[in-house]
Amino acid sequence: MTRAIYPGSFDPVTFGHLDIIRRSAKIVDELIVGVLNNTSKVSLFSVSEREEMLKEVTRSLPNVTIASFSGLLVDFARRERATVIVRGLRAITDFDYELQMAQTNHILDEDIDTLFFTTGLEYAYLSSSTVKEVAAFGGDIRKFVPDIVVKNMKHKFQIT
Ligand code: ADP
Repeated sequence: MTRAIYPGSFDPVTFGHLDIIRRSAKIVDELIVGVLNNTSKVSLFSVSEREEMLKEVTRSLPNVTIASFSGLLVDFARRERATVIVRGLRAITDFDYELQMAQTNHILDEDIDTLFFTTGLEYAYLSSSTVKEVAAFGGDIRKFVPDIVVKNMKHKFQIT
């Protein structure tokens, strides 16, 4: 049985993330979406808010669960008995950082490998930061994120 972890900030989850979740969940037996509780990074949504949105948008995927973690990803993977880390690759700018992380994690635990998914072209330039920027100025984010996120973003930015 292959259990994988898809880690990230998901602040908030976008259609780009959802695309990776759906595609990887078809390949592995169990997928845990790991929401990183990073105290050194300022986030718009709390970890539990991010988890709730992820739960809502993955409800129809039976082999996907949502969890949060802090500290080293390989320690979280070991605790969950996962051997695969799923990451998405967007434009070339992601590559250098992702390669570095994948190599480091493999050195920390040689039983853990990283599986990369290239993004769907329509999501290649989509990031949570862009969505937050557009939403902060009252722009329409419905093409970027699921309805529940649109609703919660409006609430955060007090847009009616
Ligand atoms: P992090 O803060 O770890 O980069 P993110 O939530 O931004 O967390 O991203 C988590 C993972 O999802 C990363 O592997 C990232 O490359 C991938 N990802 C983010 N946006 C997209 C997208 N639009 N298409 C595909 N993969 C994406």
